[in-house]
Amino acid sequence: MRAVGAFDDLTERITDVGEEAEDASVSTEDLQKSEDELEAELEAELAELEEGEEDEPAAEAETSSPELDTEPAAEPEPQPEPEPEPEPEVEQGGYQIDPERVEDLLWDLELVLLEADVAQEVARELRDEMERRLPRIRVDAKSEVPQAVESELTSAIRSLLEGRSFKFDEWLLTEDERPLTVMFVGVNGTGKTTTIARVAHRMKELGFSSVLAAGDTYRAGAIEQLKQHGDKLGVRVVNHEPGSDAAAVAFDAIDHAESRKKDLVLVDTAGRMQTDSNLMDELAKIDRVADPDLTIFVGDSLAGNDAIEQAKEFDKAVGVDASVLTKVDTDAKGGAALSIAHAVGKPVAYLGVGEGYDDLIPFDPDWMIERIFE
Ligand code: GDP
Repeated sequence: MRAVGAFDDLTERITDVGEEAEDASVSTEDLQKSEDELEAELEAELAELEEGEEDEPAAEAETSSPELDTEPAAEPEPQPEPEPEPEPEVEQGGYQIDPERVEDLLWDLELVLLEADVAQEVARELRDEMERRLPRIRVDAKSEVPQAVESELTSAIRSLLEGRSFKFDEWLLTEDERPLTVMFVGVNGTGKTTTIARVAHRMKELGFSSVLAAGDTYRAGAIEQLKQHGDKLGVRVVNHEPGSDAAAVAFDAIDHAESRKKDLVLVDTAGRMQTDSNLMDELAKIDRVADPDLTIFVGDSLAGNDAIEQAKEFDKAVGVDASVLTKVDTDAKGGAALSIAHAVGKPVAYLGVGEGYDDLIPFDPDWMIERIFE
């Protein structure tokens, strides 16, 4: 089911709950009414009693004690001021979610998040946050309940992603050192080479020069692919023969960038499975030789939990500073990318949103949230 459908469905379910909130307010009004009626009845009875007293003054005289007439009347004890009655909740701000239905609504919310491909642990975290927020919702009209719930959910997702964005462009501007070396790691097929080409393109547009290091020496195709991107973009690619030492390629690229006063060295690396210890040793060697200023993990947003595992393994081997999530355009429901952004625990620099050179956008939590609620 697409997220759009799922959230429409949720809106209907929330509206139902809103109606129940209204019902609850009606029944409280009814209670209020019967209180008023009771009060009126009581007043009527008192009035009757008073009339009776006026009619029978002798009876009162008969009952009064002669001793009481001679002794001074005792001072009445001062009574404490009565505490004001607490206002019923519904009178404070109109409608609220019926407390008895909160549990159902939370279940619906969690289901919708799971249907939108949000990972289970992230959906559970959001559910817990909403459990705290829902009872505090107060709106003026029943029709505003679904909107209020959606806005709380948006704000819960936003706080989940808070501090999770790495502003690459700003980083480049604030760092004085040149060249800056950025190493890209990730398993094959996630979009590492494409991402490097897109970053080089973006940097060129911003006025920064780059050198690309063809560090995936395992695959002749990978070297070729990077060279083709370099040709198209007018960016220099440093490469060695297939099978050669990747750390040496990175070293030469940095050397070239230093002599030509380039701003950036973008290092491609091999990307077999993250469980391959030879690969991790090789990456550790490139890391020692190139001593990158930034290491970026490239993850396929559709890989779900695999991407989270990959990020952890690469982080263990070389220390990941930030990530790029690719293929967000194919994550129709948007929840997978959101989960990875949260679970990887590293700030996200960019999102890959297509196959073109321009399809790389700085990570923006609001962009992602809008996609989920679009
Ligand atoms: P690498 O093996 O990690 O270097 O992956 P590649 O850069 O060769 O990319 C693998 C495939 O994913 C290619 O067909 C790319 O065009 C495609 N790809 C990369 N990033 C994106 C993206 O953001 N969106 C889409 N739809 N495809 C992408």
